[in-house]
Amino acid sequence: MPGIGLLLGLPPGPREAFERDTERQRVRQLRATIVLGLVFYNLYNLSNFILMQELGWLPTILRLAVTAAGGVLIGAVPHLGARLRETLVAIAMTGASLVPLFLFWLTRSSLGPYSFSDFFLTVVYASVLLVLRFPAALLYTALCLPLALAAIWTQPILTHELCWALTLQTLTALIFLLVSNWLVQRMHRESYVEVWLRTREARELETARRAFADLSATDALTGLANRRRFDEALAEAHARARTAGIPYALLMIDVDHFKRFNDAYGHPAGDGCLRSVAGILAAELSGRDALIARYGGEEFAVVLRGGGMDGGARLAAQLVEAVEAHAIAHGQRPDTGCFVTVSVGVAAYEVTSALPTAVMRAADAALYEAKRRGRNRHALFGADEPEALTA
Ligand code: GH3
Ligand code: MG
Ligand code: MG
Repeated sequence: MPGIGLLLGLPPGPREAFERDTERQRVRQLRATIVLGLVFYNLYNLSNFILMQELGWLPTILRLAVTAAGGVLIGAVPHLGARLRETLVAIAMTGASLVPLFLFWLTRSSLGPYSFSDFFLTVVYASVLLVLRFPAALLYTALCLPLALAAIWTQPILTHELCWALTLQTLTALIFLLVSNWLVQRMHRESYVEVWLRTREARELETARRAFADLSATDALTGLANRRRFDEALAEAHARARTAGIPYALLMIDVDHFKRFNDAYGHPAGDGCLRSVAGILAAELSGRDALIARYGGEEFAVVLRGGGMDGGARLAAQLVEAVEAHAIAHGQRPDTGCFVTVSVGVAAYEVTSALPTAVMRAADAALYEAKRRGRNRHALFGADEPEALTA
């Protein structure tokens, strides 16, 4: 697990996520807690009035000043960045704790020293209710502790024994609260990081699974979909045609006289040629709702979704033309041609074609017919009407 520092700093990844995920909750908690704190803070005007009457309105004025600052903070916290927000909260909290400390130090009334617990209560509030971020809590403690000790030891009406007792109590209270603040926040952050890591792991697994699924559906030579993916696409298109009446056309494409190409230029050049043809076909299909796959060897297949025989025929003519237009040299053809060309057989879904294989057979038969008629062309097949073959 990426380490959580001693000051409870999170490692960079979870850190940003933590701020983002907890911000709204933290702002809500801060605003509610500050309101609650200020209500009780002002109730202590009563206790001050009883314990240190000689100070008159001073405690009320100081507490009102803190209340006003608290009010500003309540309005500001939703608009501040995390660091500034937490720093300002810690500063305001220090101010709020110094008021009872100052009053305790100032009073000369015999009951005055009892108000020291007012200061304790502010420290409890800062650590347990406000849950100052640990570095802020540390800073707050570092400021409050020497000032508290100074107030105790320079308060002239305290006996030496009482000074020692209060010193011990202050140290204990501040240390206990700091440790409890650390433990609570560490636990919270640890569970956050654990959830963050699990989520990241799940996301990585999903990405790997998708990459693997893509890979297992891709033809390694051409980068087109492979036979497996093609079978799925054909089955899907066929099912949609049967259930929703959405037609589709199937094009079987075969490179003409490819054996001679291999014989003339070698197998690696043949591979390059297949890649080029695949690229040309894919480019012609871009923007169409169609899937092109390498069916096997030097054969490709296209499922044209939503297109009937007419759409299939137009697409087939376009593909034949595009391959020839790229003028890939093929000097060993037995016919008059001198470029690489393709022949295409087109079939379309018919309501009577119960299985995708029927459409496949029809497209194959049409391809055979295109070859028979001289290649570099397409031929059509009405799946259930073999006699409807056209050029
Ligand atoms: P036709 O016009 O009748 O289709 O003739 P053809 O020569 O293209 O057909 P045939 O079926 O006789 O030969 C296909 C050739 O395709 C044979 C094989 O060597 C070649 N071939 C199949 N797969 C690959 C491949 O992955 N790479 C290369 N370089 N050649 C391949
Ligand atoms: Mg072939
Ligand atoms: Mg061929």
